[in-house]
Amino acid sequence: MKKTDLQNETLAIQLTDNHDDSGSVANVIYPTTTFKRETDGSYASGFVYTRHNNPNRDQLEHVLAQLEGASCGFAFASGMAAISTVLQTLKPGDHVLVPDDAYYSVQLLVKEVFDRWQLSHSVVDMTDTGAVQSAIKPETALLWLETPSNPQLKVSDIKALAELAHEHGALCAVDNTWSTPILQKPIDLGADVVMYSTTKYFGGHSDSLGGALVLSEAATTQLAEKIKNIQNLSGAVPSPFDCWLMLRGIKTLPLRLNQQTRNAEQLAHFLSQHPKIRAVHYPGLPAHPQHRLAQQQMPNGYGAMLSIQVGSDAKAAMALIGRLQLFTAATSLGGVESLIEHRKSVEGDSSPTPNNLLRVSLGIEHIDDLVADWVQALDGLHE
Ligand SMILES: *Cc1c(COP(=O)(O)O)cnc(C)c1O
Repeated sequence: MKKTDLQNETLAIQLTDNHDDSGSVANVIYPTTTFKRETDGSYASGFVYTRHNNPNRDQLEHVLAQLEGASCGFAFASGMAAISTVLQTLKPGDHVLVPDDAYYSVQLLVKEVFDRWQLSHSVVDMTDTGAVQSAIKPETALLWLETPSNPQLKVSDIKALAELAHEHGALCAVDNTWSTPILQKPIDLGADVVMYSTTKYFGGHSDSLGGALVLSEAATTQLAEKIKNIQNLSGAVPSPFDCWLMLRGIKTLPLRLNQQTRNAEQLAHFLSQHPKIRAVHYPGLPAHPQHRLAQQQMPNGYGAMLSIQVGSDAKAAMALIGRLQLFTAATSLGGVESLIEHRKSVEGDSSPTPNNLLRVSLGIEHIDDLVADWVQALDGLHE
């Protein structure tokens, strides 16, 4: 049986099995920083020093690439380290397009760090392909997409935007953290680079930071060597233990994400009919402005993140968080536990996120309990 013919649930188990010859069924951790050299100067294992590579990282990178159907993969110490690496492949004078709604640190990174490297950028509404086209300049080298976007769940057309990027000789990179390859496969839609914060769904238990890049075949020829070099020389690599935790998380990724997605779909439908909720942002709702596009682009489900707007300012939103008993007030997402956060106060005053918006990350709890929690929280809420 070819591994590529297997379903995600089977693949997640098969790809992450233990490789060494000890007979251990559980995966082995290689905490070593360095590897033995033979008398002739060679390295029998192929490993030299853990910043260059390590058996746990090697397996993780292989698994991430395979799940995506990508040519190669690179693991990093965090999602931001992975994003920085993509930007470091560019040269001074290059121009980058970033979404108006996206993980907020991406905008901060291009403004506060890469501006000094003479990397210019424009912020665009990526749901408007015409606006993206007009924002492209001769020196545009990268389109950075995030779909669905954080925190307003705007959906942009990966296929159309990747084509547009290629017409102008630019790369198209997609932050696919919220969907993972289980729900959305940007490389199949034409993207060159797919980025993950593995901190979220791959890890799945809110106990390990990590990031990853996987590349299409064409991008591998163009970028793999550069990325490998930056990964090694900049050194933002994950520890063997973090890689081991990620591999362990991946074993249950399809199971968790499918349950979490079902929970999000049901909660989104419930909240969209509640009189005290002013707006629900979830691509699975027929009323979502890009619902049709999401149906094509995310055939296996719309993900486990949603955001809502309640009251007219932060006050009602904060009060609602305080009334919920099964949703922990914390930033981040993708773990087995449901979380809720007031996004604007995390992003800061400069953020365009509405002040009455709450972002919700659905966990794996039973949906009846989660909905009942919202019912009681909203019943007693004075807007
Ligand atoms: C969390 C997140 C990041 C950043 O990842 P870290 O692992 O926290 O560095 C980037 N993009 C998205 C969509 C995220 O949710």
